[in-house]
Amino acid sequence: MTQNALYINYEFCTGCHSCEIACRNEKGIGLDDFGMKVLEDRPRQHADGSWHWDYIGYPTELCDLCADRVAEGKLPSCVQMCQAKCLHYGTVDECAQMLTKKGSKAAIFMP
Ligand code: SF4
Ligand code: SF4
Repeated sequence: MTQNALYINYEFCTGCHSCEIACRNEKGIGLDDFGMKVLEDRPRQHADGSWHWDYIGYPTELCDLCADRVAEGKLPSCVQMCQAKCLHYGTVDECAQMLTKKGSKAAIFMP
């Protein structure tokens, strides 16, 4: 069976939390827990003088890649809702290729 994954390109993540809310609604997760949690990496300055202030959507152990939605031919809820197009659902191979091409400020999640 082909293993699927989420590719997360957080370079343009705005920290809007829409993915978090979409996941919560889809999976019926209460306010005290998360299926997707948006983390914030506060401003940091590298030795070269450049500043970095990032947000990244982090799928937790409750993420099952929206198996029920995907079985119906839909995209995972968080992927559907991200206006910045930071999230992509695909095979591990496809996501790995995207990660290699991107190089930085990206990650892959597999449940
Ligand atoms: S794929 Fe589905 S379960 Fe996983 S984080 Fe996104 S919305 Fe939540
Ligand atoms: S991944 Fe997309 S939906 Fe989630 S906080 Fe970032 S921009 Fe918003």
